[in-house]
This record gives sequence, C-alpha cells and structure tokens, in this order.
Amino acid sequence: MKPRIISLLVSFLLSLVVLAFSFFLFHDVKSCLILVACTFLSAFVFTLIAIDMYIARRIRLVYKLISNLKIDKSLKQALGNNISDDPLNQMEEDVSHWAQQQASDIEMIQKISDYRKEFLGNLSHEIKTPLFNIQGYIQSLINGGLEDRAITDSFLLKAEKNIDRLCALVADVDVMSKLDTGEMPLIFSNFDIVGLIKEIAFTRDELAKKKNIKFEFTTNERKMVEADKEKIAQVVSNLLDNSIKYGVENGITTIKFFDMDKLLLVEITDNGVGIAEEHLPRLFERFYRVDKSRNSAEGSGIGLAIVKHIMNAHHQPINVRSNKNVGTTFAFTLQKG
Ligand code: ADP
Repeated sequence: MKPRIISLLVSFLLSLVVLAFSFFLFHDVKSCLILVACTFLSAFVFTLIAIDMYIARRIRLVYKLISNLKIDKSLKQALGNNISDDPLNQMEEDVSHWAQQQASDIEMIQKISDYRKEFLGNLSHEIKTPLFNIQGYIQSLINGGLEDRAITDSFLLKAEKNIDRLCALVADVDVMSKLDTGEMPLIFSNFDIVGLIKEIAFTRDELAKKKNIKFEFTTNERKMVEADKEKIAQVVSNLLDNSIKYGVENGITTIKFFDMDKLLLVEITDNGVGIAEEHLPRLFERFYRVDKSRNSAEGSGIGLAIVKHIMNAHHQPINVRSNKNVGTTFAFTLQKG
C-alpha cells in the first residue's frame, strides 16, 4: 500500500475518534469540524513523515548490509563503504551505476561466449577435413587398395599430406594459445633483421622453386632492430610462406626496408593472386580465409592472426595493401636497435 493511502486511512480513523469525542464534549458542530479538520491534516502530515523516516531507515539498513557483505565485488565497489546522509538518492545513483557496470559485464561475457563458440566451430571444422580424408584413404587401403602398389603409394602420400596439415594446425593453435595466455613472453634482443629474413628465405628456397618464385632484397646492408628475434622470425616465416602459397608461377617476392627515424619499416610484397578489398579488414582474424574452398588444402587461416598478435605484443602495427590479380604487400615496423 502507498504511504499516502496509509496516511489518509490513519488520519481518517483518528478524525472519526476525535469527532466522536469532540461532539460529546462541545455539542457545537463548528468547533467539532475545526478540531476534526486540524486533526485530519496534522495526522496526515505526521503519518507521512513517520512512514518516510521508517522507509529511509530500513533502506539505510539494507544499504549498509549490502555494502558490508561481499556478495558481489562489483556491487560492493559500486556502493562503496560510505553510507550517505541521503540514502535514497545515493542508492538510486549507486544502483544505476551498478546496473550500467553489470550491463557492460554481461555484454563482454556474451562476446566471449560467442567468440568461444565460433572458435570451437572453426577449429572442429579445420580438424574434421584432414581427419576424414585420412580415414577415407586408410579405409580404401584396407578394402583392397593395398593389393595395388601404385594406389597404396598414392594414398599413403595423400594421407601423409593431411597428417602434415593437422600437425601444422595443432602447432598454430598451440602458438596462438601460448601467446594468449602469456606463456610466450617477449624476449628482446638486438639483431640484424635483413640477415634474419635472408636466413628464413633460404629455408623456403625449395618451396619457392616449385613455383619458380624468387626472393629479392632491396639491400644487403645490416639493419639492427630491437625485438623478440624468435617471434619476428615467426612473423616473417608466415608472410614469406603466404607469398609463396598465394604467389603465381615465376613470381617475385620483394623485401624492402625503409628507415623512419627511430623505426624501421619492413615491406614484403608479392605479385601473386592478391586479395579483394572487402576481405582486407577481416584478414587478421583467426580462421579467416578469403576463399575457403580454394585454400582449404593450403592453410587454416591462423597464420596472419599469429602475425598480428606478435606485432601487437611489440606495440608495432602491421598493415596490408592488396589488389586482386596484382599482388599483396604486408608492412610492419620495428624499433631500431
Ligand atoms: P592461411 O593458413 O589460410 O594461409 P593466413 O592467416 O596466413 O591463413 O591467411 C589468411 C588468408 O589471407 C588466406 O587464406 C589467404 O586467402 C589470404 N592471404 C594471406 N596472405 C596472402 C597473400 N600474400 N596473397 C594473397 N592472399 C593472401
């Protein structure tokens, strides 16, 4: 029941009692009515004030109880330890602050949950394809393929390719999760980035030769940088591998270096298949592939996410420029050593 209605009822009842008594005492209608009106008004005001005070006291008690209890850290934080002199207003302010905090927490939890679902869906999809392929080849061999040497060799080679793909995927996911959990902290050192990229390009020579792709460096000078050598090696490996995977026959991958005051800009450019503009904003997302069907046998879509993660950890940007059927450039900066 509302405080006003309670006050009205109380003052009405009191007025009735006063009316009966005053009529008995004064036998004068006018005096009786004045007395009853005064009683009604003062009873109404007093009851209303008393109810307000009672509610305020109860709210203060609840408020104090909540702020002293460790029910919820964020609620406690929102309410603070000070009990205000104006608990109703303070409470309203605190609760609205708390509600805002809860809403943003819920939104964040929702995003994490969506991300987890998407991640698991993508991961199981990536695992399923090579696994089912391997299963198919082995079943075919068991069901008679083993009798034919040519079929056996071909299916075993195909199964091996799919196992390699699974291993690469697991290795990528492992790196990604270690980077996420901070199990792979950065270890900074001074090293020559030109030398490092040349070493990596040399290890990719076999692969590049299959498409007759050449690596070209715009300088042979040493360029010293301050970074985590192993992780930058991973960045460069992923970018060079992509320049071969998505490169064209007889293509060229050019590695350029630009001095920029305290930073060194490194650009890796290929003249491969290129990427349509609409894909560029999502390129560094985990499991994002431009053409899922075309690339399904070539990669998992984690390589660039790892690259981005490592560059973020170095607090350095990585950008991509690309034109379909013309080529792609990945550019990143490093602190000079
Ligand atoms: P993947 O393992 O599929 O290569 P990445 O994360 O390395 O995963 O790359 C994501 C997608 O970006 C690739 O699937 C490919 O479509 C596109 N991509 C990356 N590098 C290049 C490149 N140099 N040229 C053309 N497309 C590229």
